[in-house]
Amino acid sequence: MAIIIKTPQEIEVLREGGRRLAAVLQKVAAHVEPGISTKELDRVAEKLIREGGDEPAFLNYQPSGAPYPYPASLCVSVNSEVVHGIPHDNRILKEGDIVSLDLGLKHKGLFTDHAITVPVGKIPKNVQELLDITKKSLEIGIDAAQPGARTGDVGYAIEKYIRKYKYGIVRELAGHGVGKEIHEDPFIPNFGKPGVGALLKPGMVVAIEPMINEGRAAVILTPDEYTFKTADGKRSAHFEHTVVITENGPEILTKI
Ligand code: MG
Repeated sequence: MAIIIKTPQEIEVLREGGRRLAAVLQKVAAHVEPGISTKELDRVAEKLIREGGDEPAFLNYQPSGAPYPYPASLCVSVNSEVVHGIPHDNRILKEGDIVSLDLGLKHKGLFTDHAITVPVGKIPKNVQELLDITKKSLEIGIDAAQPGARTGDVGYAIEKYIRKYKYGIVRELAGHGVGKEIHEDPFIPNFGKPGVGALLKPGMVVAIEPMINEGRAAVILTPDEYTFKTADGKRSAHFEHTVVITENGPEILTKI
């Protein structure tokens, strides 16, 4: 699949969609507290998206290789779950958990994608550091997404920063182009070599999303065929922004 360059008009729609998505995700995050179910967070996310006149991008989306369509609007991945956790009424968050909230929104036909990992109540200092460092690695990856750079430069920047810590970078999952579809080319791994991979050009819209594990990098796909977990059972964090490459550098779209 060729990489799609978006028109200025499309970028304006994505900018508005990104703003709306960031506002929704911030409101969903405000509901995170001990005792709430992951399904309740999903209901809040879907309701807020539809109230804005938009559509949840993940609901009924069937990625290639998946055996059935994704059954929710929000991915809610708790502790050792890395990404694509399916919300359930019987999955109750408790004090000390961390929870990744990953949400996609379709505004006027165009998609944006955004994720944050937040604490449930009070969490230990070392776990807060995992969140802070993962978030920082996203910022470093975005800074590397300059026009004329390559996807390998983004991955290399993230990898170089994370290497200072005893964390694992998830290798099986990666960032991606986004806009006309929820997943487009190019594939943007969170590791790599400088100067290698697809060229980043003005008008390209990409989702950059490091997934960083407290322990080893290895992940397993659980029997629901969506939820990825760390193989060693340790925690994982995930932050994601949709970004447009401009002549002047990267611009985050999923912000208020
Ligand atoms: Mg994504």
